[in-house]
Amino acid sequence: MEIKSDIKIAQETEMKNIRDIADAAGLDQKYIELYGNYKAKVDYNLLEEKKDAADGKVILVTAISPTPAGEGKTTTTVGLADALKKIDKSVLVALREPSLGPVFGVKGGAAGGGYAQVVPMEDINLHFTGDMHAIGAANNLLAAMLDNHIQQGNGLGIDPRKITWKRCVDMNDRQLRFVVDGMGGKANGTPREDGFDITVASEIMAILCLSSDIEDLKNRVANIIVGYTYDDQPVTAGQLKAQGALAALLKDALKPNLVQTLEHTPAFIHGGPFANIAHGCNSIMATRMAMKMADYVVTEAGFGADLGAEKFLDIKCRMAGITPSAVVVVATVRALKHHGGVAKADLGKENLDALEKGLPNLLQHVENITQVYGLPAVVAINRFPTDTEAELALVEDKCRELGVNVALSEVWGKGGEGGIELAKEVVRLCEEPNSFAQSYDLDLSIEEKIRAIATKIYRADDINILPAARKQMAQLEKLGFGDLPICVAKTQYSFSDDPTLLGAPRDFVLTVRNLKVSAGAGFIVALTGDIMTMPGLPKVPAAEKIDVDKTGKITGLF
Ligand code: ADP
Ligand code: MG
Repeated sequence: MEIKSDIKIAQETEMKNIRDIADAAGLDQKYIELYGNYKAKVDYNLLEEKKDAADGKVILVTAISPTPAGEGKTTTTVGLADALKKIDKSVLVALREPSLGPVFGVKGGAAGGGYAQVVPMEDINLHFTGDMHAIGAANNLLAAMLDNHIQQGNGLGIDPRKITWKRCVDMNDRQLRFVVDGMGGKANGTPREDGFDITVASEIMAILCLSSDIEDLKNRVANIIVGYTYDDQPVTAGQLKAQGALAALLKDALKPNLVQTLEHTPAFIHGGPFANIAHGCNSIMATRMAMKMADYVVTEAGFGADLGAEKFLDIKCRMAGITPSAVVVVATVRALKHHGGVAKADLGKENLDALEKGLPNLLQHVENITQVYGLPAVVAINRFPTDTEAELALVEDKCRELGVNVALSEVWGKGGEGGIELAKEVVRLCEEPNSFAQSYDLDLSIEEKIRAIATKIYRADDINILPAARKQMAQLEKLGFGDLPICVAKTQYSFSDDPTLLGAPRDFVLTVRNLKVSAGAGFIVALTGDIMTMPGLPKVPAAEKIDVDKTGKITGLF
């Protein structure tokens, strides 16, 4: 059987004009700003008009602890929405925008896969509607204003050795991680150690995603801490008078982007914050808008449920006042075997023992959703071509035996048709009673909040806060940031902070190395390891296979 590439499938599908997609979603044309025939931005003033309209139900798609390849969350999100449409539900997808870094690196595209994709995938994966550019420009304007302030006399007394704000670019470029700039003498700035992050790791991206409107965005930008003075007082973007210009640069980027799935289901693709040093889900603006436009909104959170779902539920839903109705936990036979001890090269071979050994990882994620957060959950087994019938049956049987809801999903191979069983189960779960609660209260101390996540979600015995982090904790509490939610930066491969501890590890302690406030976004980042905010390209970058022909047709974007 020939397996078609994602891009081939996408290019063979005839898209509808985006105006027709908007019409079908009941969107008034006055709110649509066209970017060609297949992309549009939607004016946020729509939310004002619809503020009293009923909200649709939110379904979160998350996953077990992933293998390096990704487990098909985006694919399942898109396929589930197409399946809901097939059973005549009004539905909208809300996804993150891809970053150019991974597109040219290892991961390839981020618009779903197989017959469950959003299109035009080339545009979505490349420049799209320019949001990344706007975010980069805003980030770099703030950096320029900061260094200019120092150059023009440094009235605020900023210590150039304590600047925390970096420059950014939307590329995997390790060469820029550490740079010295401002060289060339008095007229050319103040020499200092500087660095670049990838644009999606910028706090501006997190702010864009968490802002409820342009005023909120401006206030959050003003609160960004760019560095500290010689006597250790924080310096904010507001003190540099930067918030107005940054908000002006971001005004269009704040508008959700409307596209369609291969089956013409409307989809918002908006915002794409890093899932470790930020909260890793699409914008509150797009999710809220989707809830006003459809009865069911299917959305995705990055990485496994210990990271993505935890931040979606504890940070995003809390800030936006959203109560999800159901959670889909995507599992693959491959990943379960990986958790059961099978090496990456052997994941394609049937191995029922390893599969069973890997199940505790899945069960812990499901239990967290149902017991800690009080939300109904279903496991979606994302079927891969290499899975055997015996393997698929084993996962289904074991889940049923343990009272876990489960549905086989074949959306990658069949589109919406392959997700009808899952869609029906999701609709049923959305009617179930829901006792949603966050995993910690904001009024706990920073230490208690981190301990709550570590013990309840990861099942660590305790946390170990290293001396440097303890000092930062005291300072953050003194500065008045003690009541912010926590954004844990941790490896996605394990519940623990050790990427080699697969499955459902026990008897471990989570080590907190550093704490940092993102005062604009509104959370405290707890770093449990070295977190890369500027990735590098691999030995053979995906970029080597990407091409465009004389008609403008792109190939090699998988
Ligand atoms: P995630 O969102 O979890 O990172 P994606 O949905 O982006 O995962 O999928 C990652 C990659 O795996 C994509 O290239 C996609 O085409 C592929 N993929 C997803 N599901 C399947 C499947 N059932 N069979 C084969 N390939 C799949
Ligand atoms: Mg994804």
